[in-house]
Amino acid sequence: MQAHSVRPASPIAEPQTAGEPSSFVTAAVESCRRRSLNLTPIRRRVLEIVAASPTPLAAYAIIHRLSGPKLLGPPTVYRALDFLVEAGFVRHLALRKAFVLCARPDAPFVAMLTCTACGDTSETPSEEVRAAIAQFASATGFAPHGRAIEIEGRCASCSGGAIEHVP
Ligand SMILES: [Zn+2]
Repeated sequence: MQAHSVRPASPIAEPQTAGEPSSFVTAAVESCRRRSLNLTPIRRRVLEIVAASPTPLAAYAIIHRLSGPKLLGPPTVYRALDFLVEAGFVRHLALRKAFVLCARPDAPFVAMLTCTACGDTSETPSEEVRAAIAQFASATGFAPHGRAIEIEGRCASCSGGAIEHVP
């Protein structure tokens, strides 16, 4: 099972230059057009902020980064985030109370691995975990939400796999 970093390994999320729309945002605009979803300017701006961050962002950090002629209230930003999560562009990490780009929107199930030391987050598709949860759910009658589980720990760099790590 190979872990894929959300940023470099994603087929659509690539590093971007400040001020340029990332290819992820461009793909999201196209995806919304195809699906007749309304990517309003505020939703797009929130997506750009999440896409530009190397680590998951809390909602307050997104609000802080939104600058414009008028101050946007938290409900507006939360509604935009709800849309982006629902549309499959952003994942909500409940354990971290933070938001990160969805690197594998088409994967039936992923494990979200978050490093508590450096904040690095990666997605790993896992049929084994999906099957185990489905079996557990069937046996107990529990109906799980979502298509991801979150696991916190230390990434290879922070757990000593690399010589040094710059946070
Ligand atoms: Zn780390």
